[in-house]
Amino acid sequence: MRSARLWARLLGVEDAVIQRVWFDEQAEAVVVAARPRKHLQGRCGRCGRRCRGFDRGEGRRRWRALDVGLLKAFVEADAPRVRCPEHGVVVAAVPWARHGAGHTRTFDDTTAWLAAHASKQAVREMLRTAWATVGQIVARVAADAEAACDRFEGLRRIGIDEISYKKGHRYLMVVVDHDSRRLVWAAPGRDQATLRGFFDLLGPERCDKLRLVSADAAEWAATVVAERCRAARLCLDPFHVVKWASDALDEVRRQAWNTARQQGDTALAREFKGARFASWKNPEDLTGRQRGKLAWIARVNARLYRAYLLKEELRLVFKLKGVKATVLLEAWLAWARRCRIPAFVKLASTISAHRAGIHAALTEGLSNGLVESVNTKIRLLTRIAFGFRSPDALIGLAMLTVGGLCPPLPGR
Ligand SMILES: [Zn+2]
Repeated sequence: MRSARLWARLLGVEDAVIQRVWFDEQAEAVVVAARPRKHLQGRCGRCGRRCRGFDRGEGRRRWRALDVGLLKAFVEADAPRVRCPEHGVVVAAVPWARHGAGHTRTFDDTTAWLAAHASKQAVREMLRTAWATVGQIVARVAADAEAACDRFEGLRRIGIDEISYKKGHRYLMVVVDHDSRRLVWAAPGRDQATLRGFFDLLGPERCDKLRLVSADAAEWAATVVAERCRAARLCLDPFHVVKWASDALDEVRRQAWNTARQQGDTALAREFKGARFASWKNPEDLTGRQRGKLAWIARVNARLYRAYLLKEELRLVFKLKGVKATVLLEAWLAWARRCRIPAFVKLASTISAHRAGIHAALTEGLSNGLVESVNTKIRLLTRIAFGFRSPDALIGLAMLTVGGLCPPLPGR
């Protein structure tokens, strides 16, 4: 193999002709001068169409490439501009990098793969790159992967949810596919305009094919779904219903804590304060100590224990499917209505009001697992994405990991 070919393969720039390789003392890096092969020259950077040349642009440019052994590496080339009939004057495409990127495609893909698989610290150290730069790379790799495939193909049952990603009420709206169990779309915002934006992208034909849309109980979402998806049944996401029950249980626990405090029994108050786990942990996940505490609650506060049982039984409703589940739901409603715990009496009336939507979820066999797990994963990502400058980077990272769009490591 000639050494020019070897360098092209080393850097993953096989569509380029390597002209010269040298060591740049100042940058402490290997620099490889290259040019696109003849048939790839003079193409629009945005659409790839062959165009007439415009000017030399800003002269020579460098793109960061993957390290060669222990050294940083750059590809250096001319960056002339062309005039595209559609896109106007743009920098010509180069086969080794995405349009407008300062890194090679293999560097981009490796960064995206690492961001989806390794810790923030590991990615930064390994690639010798600022975290904000990683964010930009993640956003463009995800955008590229989204453009290359049709994520909306075959969508029948979707779930719509929102996740707060920053203090000060910044929200992402997310859409998951109940069948492929993947995130299919996300955008900043939580209002009718944002949701309409999704249905616009989907287009009327695919909107008509949607059979089921699950969401939380927000009226505005129901309005948009009714207006755009004429054939779809709207149902309530079980995840949200179970969360209402957890919130009601927490209210009862707080009352028990307050009462103990007012009676001056600080030891008892502390015990109730420490029993928070009961409202959000599933019984199968309880530790031995927490189970002991639950038994203690059953002895000292029958009311709080009843509230716990009510919440657990409601969770069970959504573990069952079909008729069995609807029968259990009716029994649950009868129990909750006369349980004399205000938080649960109120919950019973809320659930009654949304009965149709809940029945739809039960007969469709939607479990609360999917939306909840996507929700949890994205919330974890919001912590990793802290330091990315734009929500696009967070959305990109979510699409790579929860959306299944992560590129393979180059060269494998
Ligand atoms: Zn163009």
